[in-house]
Amino acid sequence: MRVIVVGAGIVGLCTAWHLARGGAEVLVLDGQAPGTGASAGNAGAISAGSVAPLAMPGVLKQVPQMLLDPDGALHLPARYALRAAPWLLRFVASARPARVAAIAEALAGLLFGAMEQHRLILAEEGALDLIRETGQLYLYRDRAQYAKDAGGWVLRQQHGMRVEFLEGLPAIQALEPDIRGDYQLGLFIPDQGSSVNPLRQAQVVARGVERLGGTIRQAAVTALATEGGRVTGAMTAAGLEPADRVVLAAGAWSARLLAPLGIKVPLESQRGYHVMLPEAGITLQRPVVPADRKAFISPMEHGLRLAGTVEFGGLEHPPTPRRAELLLRDLAMAFPQARTEGMREFWMGHRPCLPDSLPVLGPVARWPGLWCAFGHGHLGLTGSAPTGAILAQAMLGPAPNLDLAPFAVERFG
Ligand SMILES: Cc1cc2nc3c(=O)[nH]c(=O)nc-3n(C[C@H](O)[C@H](O)[C@H](O)COP(=O)(O)OP(=O)(O)OC[C@H]3O[C@@H](n4cnc5c(N)ncnc54)[C@H](O)[C@@H]3O)c2cc1C
Repeated sequence: MRVIVVGAGIVGLCTAWHLARGGAEVLVLDGQAPGTGASAGNAGAISAGSVAPLAMPGVLKQVPQMLLDPDGALHLPARYALRAAPWLLRFVASARPARVAAIAEALAGLLFGAMEQHRLILAEEGALDLIRETGQLYLYRDRAQYAKDAGGWVLRQQHGMRVEFLEGLPAIQALEPDIRGDYQLGLFIPDQGSSVNPLRQAQVVARGVERLGGTIRQAAVTALATEGGRVTGAMTAAGLEPADRVVLAAGAWSARLLAPLGIKVPLESQRGYHVMLPEAGITLQRPVVPADRKAFISPMEHGLRLAGTVEFGGLEHPPTPRRAELLLRDLAMAFPQARTEGMREFWMGHRPCLPDSLPVLGPVARWPGLWCAFGHGHLGLTGSAPTGAILAQAMLGPAPNLDLAPFAVERFG
């Protein structure tokens, strides 16, 4: 089977890796170098238990604040409000309790075993040093602050997440001695992990695709090729690349290639930022997340990465440097002693987000030959390895254990 994978982000690469390993003839097409989209600069958290969708019951109350506070953890600039309105309506609609329960169930099925799936790929590529299995730590100022997030934590625990509650700063410091901020409650998630360099991880998987006989070519796809009601390949500036199957894994750009086929997907970029501090002067064993604004403070192999914040604004508008600067404030709240001189340039990436927090995975019923693997939102690194394993199984057999129906593109009508 000849398969084209459109997009060499971590999702496309893990899919290509499993397809090549399963015996398919794989060609990955991307206008950029492998792993340089959102996959390059994320916080590195591998969060298999993060099954609570972004839109939880009560989310409607937060929307006015999103509009008003440009420094909020989640910001929707007034200029983009009209563009984002249809997406936001769907987002709020997906916060109904019954829908939230169904989404969590589907996410649990996809992300269950994510750590093992990452380990499997990296072990075969001789790069297990890329992941740490030392858990993640969330910080709350007190029980009142925790109460606002309690619904999400309960949901995660119902799906099997182990959470250890650390009461008081000394208990928190027993785990991470450098924390100095005013936090009285820690939530330690022992079974989650992290990548110490998401870009290198993507590059390792890309090399693995080639080692397994696949090809990675730097060429943007200008259109999906169709003939006789089927998708038959991909068009690039060099012409038609034929294939038996095409997997669309172009992250936040995926909707653009679907639109000419008459498929409208409510895919929005939630723009996120990071700054790297090569010499912050603090030592961490795991990602630490102060709950105030949910920024990740992640130890990487090349320094400390502060990553997070959500900004609506689309794929074309230039980055907002202020969003990155806010991350330094987040750092100072938990680590006032951290050194920020020598801060490297900030980075912005596009999280590919669907309003129900579920990616689009699986075959497209109206277009035989076309498969989707995009829209992993805030969990694309986590979900990439299991997505690759599941899609390759669904395409090459034996059928995977996961029901792909909740992830179908057809759910958007
Ligand atoms: C600040 C930030 C922090 C994050 N932290 C985490 C985290 O801690 N844990 C986690 O699990 N996730 C995290 N994420 C989310 C994660 O990074 C993304 O969900 C994931 O990288 C998406 O991967 P992808 O392969 O779908 O997209 P991308 O990595 O964006 O790759 C898409 C690729 O498609 C290519 N492409 C686009 N158009 C075309 C075309 N026409 N033809 C060919 N190729 C095309 C692009 O060039 C790009 O290389 C974070 C994201 C951000 C921004």
